[in-house]
Amino acid sequence: MIDERLEQIYQDVVQRNPAEREFHQAVREVLDSLGPVLAKRPELAERKIIERICEPERQIIFRVVWQDDCGAVRVNRGFRVQFNSALGPYKGGLRFHPSVYLGIIKFLGFEQIFKNALTGMPIGGAKGGSDFDPKGHSDDEVMRFCQSFMTELYRHLGEYRDVPAGDIGVGGREIGYLFGQYKRIANEYESGVLTGKGLGWGGSLVRKEATGYGAVFFADDMLKVRNDTLEGKTCVVSGAGNVAIYTIEKLQQLGAKVVACSDSNGYVYDECGIDLDLLKQVKEVERLRIDAYAERHGNGARYVPAGNIWEIPCQVAMPSATQNEINGRDAATLVKNGCIAVCEGANMPTTPEGIRVFQDAKVAYGLGKAANAGGVATSALEMQQNASRDSWTFEYTEARLATIMREIHRTCYETAGEYGAPGNYVLGANIAGFLRVADAMDAFGLV
Ligand code: NDP
Repeated sequence: MIDERLEQIYQDVVQRNPAEREFHQAVREVLDSLGPVLAKRPELAERKIIERICEPERQIIFRVVWQDDCGAVRVNRGFRVQFNSALGPYKGGLRFHPSVYLGIIKFLGFEQIFKNALTGMPIGGAKGGSDFDPKGHSDDEVMRFCQSFMTELYRHLGEYRDVPAGDIGVGGREIGYLFGQYKRIANEYESGVLTGKGLGWGGSLVRKEATGYGAVFFADDMLKVRNDTLEGKTCVVSGAGNVAIYTIEKLQQLGAKVVACSDSNGYVYDECGIDLDLLKQVKEVERLRIDAYAERHGNGARYVPAGNIWEIPCQVAMPSATQNEINGRDAATLVKNGCIAVCEGANMPTTPEGIRVFQDAKVAYGLGKAANAGGVATSALEMQQNASRDSWTFEYTEARLATIMREIHRTCYETAGEYGAPGNYVLGANIAGFLRVADAMDAFGLV
């Protein structure tokens, strides 16, 4: 921590938000970057802009009651943290996972403020979700849960107020049920109230692919500034969900070889390169566990239950599952095995110790809030299409995404250089994102 004022702000955040470990971690990472900003812009400290950014504008916690297929009553908890609306309506996904509690939603909402600012698009930061686990529930149960969840949440949403999307456990199926219930209650076809919609009812081409594709564009740019490319690189991608699948797709399109992916039970290793059609069939169509990939493959693909995917030698690692999945030891293993670039599709997948290992070893390290911003950026493109009642082609939308990602990379890279830390994307992303939000907040006075 460079500045005493920042240390004090951090201590206050910890005290005011007890036991929210992931939120503390996300705040610490940003505050660790802001010392040089306060040195240049002391008025931001006087006006307590950082303290204000660390306090959500609004936090909503609600009960979600629903009935399972046996008629038993189930009770879950719903969250929406509307963190910051300085740059536009609140925007950020919904996560359905048993690990969800307020600290997870606040860490994700806090990250989202800076990520959304980096896209350069008019969107504020928010996040929501529930401790409901869609895994193991029938479609009917998921529908009843989503309807009950939206029956409370709808009053806080609107295309100019708050626009959720998907995240872990919330894909096209869940967005469909949520949108259907919103439309029914609001009695309006308000397409721009949710993103990640189906293509036949207001969705955007490339939204499904956007986070993974965008992360690969970012990795490609990180290598380009080092006069290198993704072509021929051996890659490991954790997860086997939305982000992981489309990360693998774009890596393969750019000539890289992805040898492993995972779920929370284990990983599959496929020396010849992951068979993407088979992976999509297993995960997207049949919603099976990842071991089914190896079972069906029949040609040397190996399933390793409870295995640590980061022990597999690779040149490029793209964590695309969940927070804190790479610790200091995993990072050291990756470095020892020759990894030269780590680019995060997931949010905060690397612990602070892991980040230090990568930075000390001069690994190109692209943090999630910059590298995975392609998802929310394409959500903003979906909102643009909804507002103009238009729909764009795949090629046009992908080109827009690629331009946005290249611009985010350039902004982070140049800001890091400007603040005396060339190649430090953590510093560049945090400072550039922060300044955009801070300047807008400052212009609004004390609100
Ligand atoms: P999905 O639900 O589609 O997939 C998540 C994948 O990660 C699954 O394979 C899941 O395995 C695995 N996973 C989840 N939790 C854990 C865990 N605790 N340990 C090991 N594996 C786990 O989610 P997404 O692909 O949408 O999201 C992945 C990451 O990307 C998240 O960090 C999310 O916040 C981030 N992200 C997503 C965006 C999007 O547009 N979807 C945008 C920006 C960031 P299992 O099935 O076993 O749970």
